[in-house]
Parts: sequence; structure tokens; C-alpha cells
Amino acid sequence: TATATPVLEVSGLGKSFLGVAALQDVGFTLREGSVLGLIGPNGSGKSTALDCITGFTRPDSGQVRLRGRDISGRPAHQIARSGLVRTFQTIRLYDELTVGEHLGLALRGLSAEDAGSDDLRQYWLEAFKLLRFRDAPAGILSYGQKKLVALAAVLVARPAVVLLDEPLAGVNPLVIEVIDQAIKHANEAGQTFLIIEHNVEFITSCCAEVVVLDAGRKLAEGPPSVIWDDPAVYEAFLGR
Ligand code: ADP
Ligand code: MG
Repeated sequence: TATATPVLEVSGLGKSFLGVAALQDVGFTLREGSVLGLIGPNGSGKSTALDCITGFTRPDSGQVRLRGRDISGRPAHQIARSGLVRTFQTIRLYDELTVGEHLGLALRGLSAEDAGSDDLRQYWLEAFKLLRFRDAPAGILSYGQKKLVALAAVLVARPAVVLLDEPLAGVNPLVIEVIDQAIKHANEAGQTFLIIEHNVEFITSCCAEVVVLDAGRKLAEGPPSVIWDDPAVYEAFLGR
């Protein structure tokens, strides 16, 4: 709800590549326990915004606050350890490492090896039907399974804030359903989400609020029902 505590506050975010603006003065607030959608046409700056927020790219301007603390320009591993963890649009797995090793690596990287982590590892491996692949190298998995491993690697560490870059892109409807349920489950358990997605049905059912980017700028924000009826949003997606 609009009254919940802000967890992540982004303001005035700007980033250019070789003089071309990928992001200009982008700002939004992610509230405790919410699922915020970040949408926009290809090239509108969504992934760059995530890169700036999570420390994978240094923004040229603007501020990122996590629970009121300025984390702008901090290194990625430090931001991750403070509870803000992401996935990538392009899957980043090591072909030679097993599924189990990926989850172990994720937990160690986040210093999240605690009493509950074994149970959680088991839970997500089961939920994602990956148990029998625990000792299999990631390289043999299907694209959808790789997406699930990348997501499990984030969820096992139970970060307070989860940022997902196109979690459903390229996966079949059965896997979409599994990921949809996983996000809703983790959200009900208290995790806050920022999700870049093109899937309208998913955005509508998961996100109370949506931020729309177009050509590096914030075009609109509001509940999905209002956003889908906005002629400016429609026009942005059709292209001009
Ligand atoms: P989206 O995720 O919304 O599709 P991106 O954030 O990936 O968009 O890209 C926004 C713009 O920034 C695009 O024009 C893209 O070509 C450019 N861009 C993104 N990353 C880089 C980079 N590392 N170097 C140069 N240009 C980039
Ligand atoms: Mg992208």
C-alpha cells in the first residue's frame, strides 16, 4: 500500500553511454512488502536502471537509498550483502558447476549461510523440480531450468529486496506458472520485489504498481489497470 515504509528510494537517476542518455532523471519508490513492475519498450533503460541500483554500473547522477541509507555508487557485492539481490536478463551460470554448487555459492556470496538455509535450498529445489538435478552441471539444463536455478540462487538467501530482470522471458507456460507462484509465495513470506517484465498477465496479477520507462525517462506510474488504459503508454509500446 502507499502507506507502507519505503525500502528502496531511487531519485534523479541518470546514465549515459558514450554521450547517449540511457536514463534521465528516473525516480520511484519501492515499498515494504510490495511487488513493483518496471516496464517499457526494448532499449527504454530498464536493465540499466537495475544495473545502477545494484552497483553493476555507476550512475552519472542520482541517488539510491536502501532503508534510508545512501548506497549510490557502492560496489555490487556490498549492495547484495545489505539485502538487495538481483537476477540478470541474460542468465549468468557456470556450465561446469552443479545446481547445488550454484545455490551454495549464492549463499556464501551473501554471507547468508544460516540455520534455515538448508531447508530453503530444499524447498526451492523441490518447488522448481530441480532436486534430481542437484548434482548435475548447469550446462546440461534447459533454458527454463537455467532461469529457475538463477532465481533459486536469489531466493535461497532470502534477501529483503529482490530485483528480477525479465524472469519469464523465453520460458514455456508451465515454467511461467512455477515462477509466478514462486514470486507470490516469496512475497507473501515478506520479500519485496522489483520486476522487469513484458508479460502483461503476470504484471497485472503480481504488481500493485507499475513504473513505465520510455527512452530513458519515466513515462507513467500507477496501478496496472490504469497503466494499460494510458494512451501514452500504448503509443510508447507501439513505437512512433
Ligand atoms: P532495456 O532493458 O529497457 O531494454 P537497456 O537498459 O538495456 O534497455 O538499454 C538502454 C539503452 O542503453 C539502449 O539504447 C542500450 O543500447 C544502451 N546501453 C545499455 N547498456 C549499454 C552499454 N554497456 N554500453 C552502451 N550502451 C548501452
Ligand atoms: Mg533489459
